[in-house]
Amino acid sequence: MQKIELLIKNGLLLTYDKKPFIGNIAIDKGRIIEFGNFRNKYDAQEILDATNKIVMPGFVNTHTHVAMSYFKGMADDLPLMEWLSKHIWPVENNFLSADFVRDSSLHGCAEMIKNGITTFNDMYFFGDQTAESAQEIGIRAVLGEGVLDYPVANYKNADEIFAYITKMNSKYKDNALIDFAIAPHAIYTCGKENLIKAKELAQKLDLLLHVHLSETKQEVADCLKRHNLRPAEYLDSLGFFEQRVLAAHAIWLDEREQNILAENNASIAINTSSNLKLASGFDSFASYLEKGINLSIGTDGVASNNNLSILEEISLTSKLQKALNDDPTILPARQMVEIATSGGAKALGKEKNIGSIEVGKNADLICVDINNIQSQPLYNPFAQLVYTLTSENITDSIVNGKIVMKDRELVNVDEAELIDKAQYYKQKIIDFRN
Ligand SMILES: [Zn+2]
Repeated sequence: MQKIELLIKNGLLLTYDKKPFIGNIAIDKGRIIEFGNFRNKYDAQEILDATNKIVMPGFVNTHTHVAMSYFKGMADDLPLMEWLSKHIWPVENNFLSADFVRDSSLHGCAEMIKNGITTFNDMYFFGDQTAESAQEIGIRAVLGEGVLDYPVANYKNADEIFAYITKMNSKYKDNALIDFAIAPHAIYTCGKENLIKAKELAQKLDLLLHVHLSETKQEVADCLKRHNLRPAEYLDSLGFFEQRVLAAHAIWLDEREQNILAENNASIAINTSSNLKLASGFDSFASYLEKGINLSIGTDGVASNNNLSILEEISLTSKLQKALNDDPTILPARQMVEIATSGGAKALGKEKNIGSIEVGKNADLICVDINNIQSQPLYNPFAQLVYTLTSENITDSIVNGKIVMKDRELVNVDEAELIDKAQYYKQKIIDFRN
């Protein structure tokens, strides 16, 4: 019998090219080497019994700000600019440091694993420390270092950020879990010169460009006033889309802007909860789908969401789009699950390695318990995932072939310690704000 590292047995496997079926997955050196109905073929170091569980690709969260975890619930129910300028920015200015980012990211990475996320695409500062926390938890990460025109955190200017990204890119080049990306914050915080520099560096190092785009109507109006172009047209005029772009939000794209994204294979991170809660607005994605723009799901940061549940995002997004389009057939359950997994993988340029159960891909998988009152009866696992189940039903998580959550317990960190630390920082933040 062939020796392998991990065998997942007897799970209800969700693959995207056949019907769900009960089977096994053989995993070695971080990759899926076979899946199907084989028996007594492998001698596995570790066996995960997935009887009465769905086994599926882990979720890919394509837009978040993980180091903002300790700001969850700090200030809510406020207009965006007031929320940022009176609450978030003063606390960030006081607290942002390498240690804060490492601790807060660790909390956020833990929370993501609990929500079935096996890869996340971040936009923040001190990516090196977030990388440490991601590795400690065992989650895959693409870390977009934020680029802005004015001094932030530990950088005096954008050139320092570009130098940092270059350094981090070589530091993590051969790391199995970590990639860096370039994240110009938005067209209203990043001027023409830095947007072009960001694009040129992304081309040179072949990195993803991760940008907030067309999040509010105000952004569109301001852009038209300043540049006489809509936001995506403005970026296009700078050659921004010559490199792979992931646009977060992208709610207010008109026909011409949608064509720009489609023609350049840019992807969108949909952040429905954040858009609803901040009243940034929402619009139909029907024409985006028609044009074949690659869609993915982001949670945005917990400071604005306030949770990291992809299951909640896909449920909400599907229902909101059905209502907006007066069409219950739009974004059916199976498509929503694919958007949250393989759509995310494609958005990050990782479709060859993650996002589906296929031989040769990285074993980034989750198990979802279906042996409970809420889950039964089960006719269609895709519908159950989108309309019925919650993150509490996600029991196990495997990233790069390693089990990082078993029976809802994180394997690599002490959860009680994370809770203590969150309470410690909460007190410090309260003291500062008083
Ligand atoms: Zn964001």
